[in-house]
Amino acid sequence: MGKGEAAYYAEEVYEFEMECPYCGAPMQVREVVYRMPRIGRTLLVSKRCPTCGHRRSEVVPLEARGRVRVYYRVEGPQDLYARVIRSNVASIEVPELGASITPGAAAPMIVTNIEGILRLFLEAVKSLEVMGEDVGDAEEELRRLAEEGGRFTLVLDDPLGISSVEPPKGVRRSGKVIVERVEGALEPETY
Ligand SMILES: [Zn+2]
Repeated sequence: MGKGEAAYYAEEVYEFEMECPYCGAPMQVREVVYRMPRIGRTLLVSKRCPTCGHRRSEVVPLEARGRVRVYYRVEGPQDLYARVIRSNVASIEVPELGASITPGAAAPMIVTNIEGILRLFLEAVKSLEVMGEDVGDAEEELRRLAEEGGRFTLVLDDPLGISSVEPPKGVRRSGKVIVERVEGALEPETY
């Protein structure tokens, strides 16, 4: 995003210094609150250390909308390009594979596509393997799905209600995406 664009959407901007976690030198931090389509008010944090070059950006959604479960039906290779927005607290499941990923405390919000999500699963399987777990043929299966597509369901379970999946251009939306609002979920007023 260009500087002009950021300024256009920006509602609040904070700039301050903190100590770089890597080299201890003073480091600039810039926090911008802005409005993103479909996600609402969002905090963008960028940190940059001029001494050692350490950089980090984070996107933190500020609006909670109540828990949702988003289901996307993958039926062929074109679905690999469906756009996925996963909030920092949403878990991802593929019931057909019995696989799920729960975000860690410092997980970032991710904007990717279904292929990118399958690659996340692949990374997770690889680290299980490194730890000596028996993962069977999961790695091979995930690699095949990421390259050729297949038939499976991607489920995002999001306590903040921000995550979404958009079919790629030319793919019919109806029957592809189901958004289930989960009643009785805790909905914090501020997050
Ligand atoms: Zn530094």
